[in-house]
Amino acid sequence: MDTLILSIYQLFGVNSKEQFADLVSAKDHQEIIRQHRADLIASRIFPFAMLFGVVVPVWGILDLIYFPTDIALTFVAMRIVSGVAFFALAYITRKVRIGMKRALTSLMVMLMIPTLFYQLSTPLIANTELNGMAATLMHLYGLLPYVVIASLALFPLTLKEFSLFSVVLVALASFGLYRSEGSDVNMLLVQLWLLLVILGVSMFSSLQQVRYLISQMVKASYDGLTKLLTRRAGMDIMESLFRATGLQQSNFSILFLDLDKFKGINDTLGHDAGDEVLRQASKTLSESIRRGDAAIRWGGEEFLILLPHTDSESAKNVVARIMERGLAKLPDGTPVTASIGLSEQHEDDTHSWKDLVDIADKRLYKAKQTGRAKCIAPDGSEVHFPKGDSEAVVVIEGENASAQGKADQEKAKEMAEA
Ligand code: GH3
Ligand code: MG
Ligand code: MG
Repeated sequence: MDTLILSIYQLFGVNSKEQFADLVSAKDHQEIIRQHRADLIASRIFPFAMLFGVVVPVWGILDLIYFPTDIALTFVAMRIVSGVAFFALAYITRKVRIGMKRALTSLMVMLMIPTLFYQLSTPLIANTELNGMAATLMHLYGLLPYVVIASLALFPLTLKEFSLFSVVLVALASFGLYRSEGSDVNMLLVQLWLLLVILGVSMFSSLQQVRYLISQMVKASYDGLTKLLTRRAGMDIMESLFRATGLQQSNFSILFLDLDKFKGINDTLGHDAGDEVLRQASKTLSESIRRGDAAIRWGGEEFLILLPHTDSESAKNVVARIMERGLAKLPDGTPVTASIGLSEQHEDDTHSWKDLVDIADKRLYKAKQTGRAKCIAPDGSEVHFPKGDSEAVVVIEGENASAQGKADQEKAKEMAEA
């Protein structure tokens, strides 16, 4: 049973239940994937809509030449209406960021135009005796349902979406086929079989596109070395978090970390050792936060931790947890420390993520200037990395921070000079 499931996963190029679920339904897709998929669908509708907007009406000339005039005129009228509809679609999909609902509706409309055309055209030519070029044209009309179903392969649709589209299209196509081939059951079965084969191939292609899109997005969103979110992806997340209503009423904390004396590690132990420290530190960070939080590699050895629904006191607890665990260790066992700036949207009176990052950056700078290996909070209080044999993390309130801070500074200076 397990091997059967595994080979089904393999067939679709996924490795887990979650990945397979993402092919079945868009329910759990991240916002960036949703947006990207909608953009992709719209950008594929646009050129076809433009092309058909021109070709479909112009083709009417052939109808006028080869079909009896009354039939030809009806066709030309239908073609002009279709052309207008295609241009309207091109207009709607000309810009990106149109949203998933509109992208799917546009696709449905685009596929319905030839489908309806087929429905209306078959009875028109069914009882007419046609030969030569007219017969060829008539057969071309008969191919429309296949073309429509095959074109689904061009779009990244989930299994649910694909099924919805194909149920409607296959039902209408079967009805049309029945009307034109109804008298010949064998011929009808052959046509339906062909329709289903094309449907299967389209579905496979459509799902593969969803899979490819998701894997590309995931690759682009996570940093190769640290496996944390990239700066780009982090900015996207903050953008949508801050756009979401409800977050304004809640607390939102940000930690901005910069590893201390990292250049020295690279210089004395080599770049590979530096990379290993980055990997360890990232692992500590991602293991010290909750599911709804996010860890971002903001730059070389700089990290941002997003803590939604977290006030600065709780954020300080997160910091203490990270410090107690230790960010990373050098090969000789020396713990690696970081300087950290903490900001919180209410205490720092801002609802812009850019400001919040800036404020955290300033506190990080202050932490660097006043001895490193610590975190500075909005109220000026500090959380320190454990030093030497002292296990507990020292938390100093703003007022009496200066004495201890000075002592730390001295010590840091000594260490820096050593
Ligand atoms: P400070 O305590 O003031 O932050 O000192 P620092 O040495 O950490 O200062 P700085 O921010 O100037 O140094 C960052 C260094 O990180 C410089 C750069 O060579 C190194 N770095 C950036 N990205 C990587 C990386 O991916 N791998 C390695 N090994 N080093 C990196
Ligand atoms: Mg730096
Ligand atoms: Mg640094």
